[in-house]
Amino acid sequence: KEGAAHIVANELGIKVIEQVSGKLQIKNILPGMRSVETVGKVTQKFDIHEFQKEDRKGKLGSMIIGDETGTIRIVLWQEQADKLASIKEGDIVKLVDGYSKDNQGRKEVHIGDRGNIIINPPDETVGDVKESNAVRKKIKDLRENDADAEIFGTIVQLFDIRFFEVCPECGKRAKMADDSFVCETHNKVSPNYSYVLNVHLDDGSENIRVVCFRNQVETLLNKTQEDILTYREAPEKFEEVKTELLGNQVKFVGRVVNNTMFNRLEFISNQVFPNPSPEEEIERLSEEKSAEEAKAEEPKEEMEIKQEEIVEDVTKS
Ligand SMILES: [Zn+2]
Repeated sequence: KEGAAHIVANELGIKVIEQVSGKLQIKNILPGMRSVETVGKVTQKFDIHEFQKEDRKGKLGSMIIGDETGTIRIVLWQEQADKLASIKEGDIVKLVDGYSKDNQGRKEVHIGDRGNIIINPPDETVGDVKESNAVRKKIKDLRENDADAEIFGTIVQLFDIRFFEVCPECGKRAKMADDSFVCETHNKVSPNYSYVLNVHLDDGSENIRVVCFRNQVETLLNKTQEDILTYREAPEKFEEVKTELLGNQVKFVGRVVNNTMFNRLEFISNQVFPNPSPEEEIERLSEEKSAEEAKAEEPKEEMEIKQEEIVEDVTKS
């Protein structure tokens, strides 16, 4: 039936716009899509966050999934978040009827009560996950607005965690007005706490302030939301954690912003790798070294050629 309609449309010279439906590769998911269906391998899982909204309790969970074309953050609302408990890293998940959003320049697929997650569907496979488009950079080579940059270095300083109130509905900052917290969109709310942790990372070329928000803090510290919230009341408990982390080698993927207040570049973390593989780093170092050596040899070769030319010229004359 559809085929016939297509032929008729073609004969009439009408362009049939193919509706985007069915399974999408991750790179083809764009913000603002409805009924998103995709399949990916779980590469990272985060803690469930609970929140209070008026009389109702709510929760959301999140994870990163990837396929051969890229990775994307998946946000699971309410009952969907409970499914995280039965999902392991490495599992294949099929998402049905999600909706995609843009979150500060990054794409996300949200699964609400209309959507569904199928864990390890028997008829789906995912090849090697294209981890990210991140490009490794030396800190001294970072420039404002660099996106998807990867840096690797040693934590040389940790600051105190800063806590702030957010709207439980939309996650935006909730501000104190009179004696209650107010969200611009959702009015009076009983706020959740979110948090930010800044660290200084040094890679030998330079150091930079790395800004980690909620999920990143949890991954970096390997602590739950519950643990981290205890530092709000008892900041002295965080001192121990600081000491533990100081000197650790960590990898971050994120973007570079200019903090205009202090006129300095800062690195906003999108992904933290608290235990990067030492083998990979050693391999990278030796590759860099041989690349540098090859570079150093290049002008020498040129000079040799020139000398040969000179010799030739001399013999000719
Ligand atoms: Zn709100």
